[in-house]
Amino acid sequence: MPLPRPVLFARPLLARAYASASSPHALLFLDHRKGVIDPGSLSALTAASQLGGQVTGLVVGANDHVSSVLDKAKSLKGLTSLLHSTSDAYSDPLPETISPLLEKILSGSQYTHVVSTPSSLAKSLLPRVAARLDVPAVSEITSLEHDTGSGSTTFTRPIYAGNAIATVRLPSSVSIKFFTVRGTSFDAAPSEEGKEVPVQAIDPVDVSDSPTQHLSTHLAKSDRPDLSVASRVVSGGRPLKNAETFAATLYPLADALGAAVGASRAAVDAGYADNSLQVGQTGKVVAPELYMAFGISGAIQHLAGMKDSKLIVAVNKDPDAPIFQVADVGLVADLYEVVPQLVEKLKQ
Ligand code: FAD
Repeated sequence: MPLPRPVLFARPLLARAYASASSPHALLFLDHRKGVIDPGSLSALTAASQLGGQVTGLVVGANDHVSSVLDKAKSLKGLTSLLHSTSDAYSDPLPETISPLLEKILSGSQYTHVVSTPSSLAKSLLPRVAARLDVPAVSEITSLEHDTGSGSTTFTRPIYAGNAIATVRLPSSVSIKFFTVRGTSFDAAPSEEGKEVPVQAIDPVDVSDSPTQHLSTHLAKSDRPDLSVASRVVSGGRPLKNAETFAATLYPLADALGAAVGASRAAVDAGYADNSLQVGQTGKVVAPELYMAFGISGAIQHLAGMKDSKLIVAVNKDPDAPIFQVADVGLVADLYEVVPQLVEKLKQ
């Protein structure tokens, strides 16, 4: 028996797009921060290209930001066209303010798929619009296959903190297939010399009566590489004691390696590190060349965020710590003895 529909979505359904089964046409939401493309959007583009059809990028934002994104995006491999919508109301984008625009673009269109990186904005935007259009949304896919004959798309995605892989097929009766893409599973789309795609402007939707207004944004500033895309990560867990010890112990090593800093949830919950540094099921998913875990037990929720790293180095006092099951190099030792020696060696 179908479940009752939540009141939030009880508005009349919008006109749906029924696209030809044989010609996929993806709309890629190109997320960016103040004009700098989110690296995950480039991986989402690679995934969208694997559908085997056209890919139109959608850029939304304030004028200056949109022009710098368009400048970079027009030469990206796999993109066939670009749409943009420019308004001061989109300067600090909220799902509430962008979803009416996305609905407008999709109504009556020929798009077969809507794709995005799972940024905090898109994680709210895509399911919101999918629900309004009465279609499902599949999150954080790691592979896809589109059958042009039947019009169905089959995705894989990790479930149970990465301990199982679900295979999900959306049949052709799903008129628009929404999905977000796990960045670590797809290479970033490169630029192609001299390439330029057609660009079309879309009028913004008036959202002046939106009940949600952006007030302010506070960014955690850091000179270290961005954790999500860093090629080296140095992470610490509960035995780092407090914020001062966490910083004094791990930052010199991270700086010597040119690495980003990560943390277990225990370290984040105890206030040693900012929430944005959490690695794991409820934090960031990373797959750097080198992941170093100091005093991290290796709970499944932590492994879900780092086990695809190319080289995992773990230092833990407990020889039975589960982190050693995924580590390429394991050291049963006290991190307070190991880390200073590593820093010393690296300085030499
Ligand atoms: P502990 O489990 O306390 O481990 C500390 C380790 O340090 C131990 O193995 C110990 O032997 C070792 N140690 C102690 N002293 C030293 C020393 N001096 N030198 C070397 N080693 C030492 N966790 C995440 O990390 N990320 C997530 O995204 C996440 N999401 C979660 C979601 C849910 C729904 C739930 C229920 C839990 C989640 N957790 C997550 C929490 C997870 O289950 C663990 O509790 C957490 O990862 C433990 O952090 P830890 O390894 O730092 O601490």
